[in-house]
Amino acid sequence: MSRVVLATRNPGKIAELRRILAEADDKTELVGLEAFPEIGEIAETGLTFAENALLKAHAVASLSGLPAVADDSGLCVDALNGMPGVFSARWSGSHGDDDANLRLLLAQISDVPDGRRGAHFACAAALALPSGEELVVEGTLAGRLIRAPLGTGGFGYDPVFVPEGGSRTTAELAPHEKDAISHRGRAFRALVPAMVGPLGR
Ligand code: IMP
Repeated sequence: MSRVVLATRNPGKIAELRRILAEADDKTELVGLEAFPEIGEIAETGLTFAENALLKAHAVASLSGLPAVADDSGLCVDALNGMPGVFSARWSGSHGDDDANLRLLLAQISDVPDGRRGAHFACAAALALPSGEELVVEGTLAGRLIRAPLGTGGFGYDPVFVPEGGSRTTAELAPHEKDAISHRGRAFRALVPAMVGPLGR
């Protein structure tokens, strides 16, 4: 069995990628960064999702000596020229304050009419080998932003995001319903063939 490191300490992301990987292959073992306590925080200094995913994957591959997968994701709002984008997790100034980020975003677009509230979630997933080889893929989920939060599932901007063609926010979807359409699910599924194929060995 070959081992691949997922460059995160988020148990939700590890579980999600394990589920996706299990559908394709049972010979690849996925371990999270908790198996490498000596690897510290890797700053997301890139200006694109792909740049951030690649810089984390390369750092972890070279520090662990194993193939490494990393992702970076965010919400891109049409009326804000694609922002918050790579700044989604820290839009209100403090990293990871989902509630403050969401409230600031709603206030910023409060004057934007219903027909112009388009947005998409984006996720870049990267695979890097200790040799320096790399692959990066992207997944997106298009939708629109409503004016007040609805639903208790998910995280981040989920309570105000309604996927295209749907009527519920991603915070109102069951986890398996969100996994099936999400930007992260799409990016991870696109990366799996490389993880279990020649690049991952
Ligand atoms: P990261 O990819 O873990 O750095 O997360 C980036 C940020 O983007 C999160 O903190 C959320 O604010 C936002 N985000 C990314 N994916 C989602 C999602 O599936 N739902 C809601 N917000 C998300």
